[in-house]
Amino acid sequence: MSSYVCPRCRKKGPVKLRPNQLCQSCMSTWAWNTTNQVVTITPEAVAALKPKTKAPAKTNPITWVLLSVSLVLSSVVVALLVYFFKVTPAGLSGPQMISRFHTIAVLALLLAVLAGIVGASVFDVARRKKYDLTTSARAAGVVTIILTAGLLGTAGLEVRLVR
Ligand SMILES: [Zn+2]
Repeated sequence: MSSYVCPRCRKKGPVKLRPNQLCQSCMSTWAWNTTNQVVTITPEAVAALKPKTKAPAKTNPITWVLLSVSLVLSSVVVALLVYFFKVTPAGLSGPQMISRFHTIAVLALLLAVLAGIVGASVFDVARRKKYDLTTSARAAGVVTIILTAGLLGTAGLEVRLVR
């Protein structure tokens, strides 16, 4: 049954309303309340809306230890390579010198391999322990691997030179 009287506020309006239809005033109030309800900030609403942020990637101490060890090993390799190419040991006979260089070259090669393994293990440990590496740790790891690969190549060349 249609009428001019709003079923909610019981006021007679200018528009004929369908059964259960509210007047303009009640409709706008209802719409306002509805909208208002959505933005109402209750502790529950805040808790529900809080984005489930992933724990920020933090650098595990193991990562830095491994990177440092790799870097130290790489430094030793660099020192050995510099020694190999620059220093001519005095007071040594030809075969002794070859032997000395061979030892240095093999040592440099082994240390380069070790540095590479330690550097690469940063990624392996992170994967196994299920934590994300920070961008800096990732970059440091990649640099370490590239560096050790280069040293490995140089040390390998030395070994071939003295053989
Ligand atoms: Zn009304």
